Amino acid sequence: MGAALTTRRKKVDVSPMRKIYLLTPGPTPIPEPVLAAMSLPIIHHRTPAFETIFEDVKAGLKRVFQTKQDVLLLTATGTGAMDATVCNLFKKGDAVITVNGGKFGERWGQIARSYGLNPIEIKLEPGDSIEPQALQEVVKANPSARAILFQASETSTGAAMPVKEICQIARRAGMLSVCDAITAAGVFNLPMDDWSIDVLITGSQKAFMIPPGLAMISLSEKAWQAQAQSDLPKYYFDLARERKTLLKNQTAWTPAISLIVGLRESLKIMEEEGLQNVFARHELLARATRSGVLALGLELLASKMPSAAVTAVKLPTHLDGKKIVKHMRDQLGVTIVGGQDELDGKILRLSHFGYCGPFDIVTVISALEMTLKKFGYPAEYGKGVAAVQRVLAEVQ
Ligand SMILES: *Cc1c(COP(=O)(O)O)cnc(C)c1O
Repeated sequence: MGAALTTRRKKVDVSPMRKIYLLTPGPTPIPEPVLAAMSLPIIHHRTPAFETIFEDVKAGLKRVFQTKQDVLLLTATGTGAMDATVCNLFKKGDAVITVNGGKFGERWGQIARSYGLNPIEIKLEPGDSIEPQALQEVVKANPSARAILFQASETSTGAAMPVKEICQIARRAGMLSVCDAITAAGVFNLPMDDWSIDVLITGSQKAFMIPPGLAMISLSEKAWQAQAQSDLPKYYFDLARERKTLLKNQTAWTPAISLIVGLRESLKIMEEEGLQNVFARHELLARATRSGVLALGLELLASKMPSAAVTAVKLPTHLDGKKIVKHMRDQLGVTIVGGQDELDGKILRLSHFGYCGPFDIVTVISALEMTLKKFGYPAEYGKGVAAVQRVLAEVQ
């Protein structure tokens, strides 16, 4: 009997229903009404039916971006909009300041270099956010730089950046502020016009809760002036052409029609919740996650200014992050991600934005406890979960 039980225990698949929990910083889970909308028969993009949908999407995006500028839709992932920014705003040889707080900040430098710009890179320690004072000094030392390119939330380390201060520094120096808000727009407050953000970029598979394939980008008047002066090669990503077709509620090329249909639905969901409530929910979920992780005796990678989008957790050196991610995904049905490059195997990243609620956090921390224990870490069952519940109960 005992042996039979043991055998059964060994064989049992703890995730027999294959119910999947996706807590990754893109793609994020897709709400059911959005999936339903995207499954409808496809329509043509040069029709009144599409133009009506496009008009709704345009208006909804402006509200999320908190701008009176148009928000352009590109059929690309977020990196496409980063690429479009560089080739539309600058001239060959331009100096630009890039904030490299991780994988995505590093990408700004790579794109700039590939177009023949001269990036002045500020490299941060993993998990750090830029100090406004340190940025000010680099700006002072490089007065001819045309722009500051940065992330609002550096997804690879879970660090948020002081966006408002960065934009103030840029404005005073006559530079453009270019904000990769790919895991920030629709996650936390980022009022484009109020904070004088010159370029704001995001992507569909993040807080917008639809599949990958759409990038959104908005430019200030100052950025459009720079666009008119740019001499870099561009064709597919010619933003001036996109701006012109946008006036007719169309896109320059065949857009990802089904994604735009889904986006109308997800924007509706965000508006029904209320943008401020969306931000408050993300803040609560982030706080609950951090609290759960700390209760397990683990440390945060970005402890000074953690992002409301994603929590990066440092692992003790004897634990292999890759094994933890694999076990959680394959055995428990909970998908999180590990670290990239030099952080590979050393951190875990738990994402908590988009279509994500309180009990997703209970689930992920519970799965983490079980997995840590399995790999020999002295995690006590329920300790992390209880910490999560205490935070969630504050607003019950
Ligand atoms: C996801 C992400 C990107 C873009 O990635 P894509 O794979 O091109 O969508 C860029 N910056 C940040 C901060 C991101 O989180």
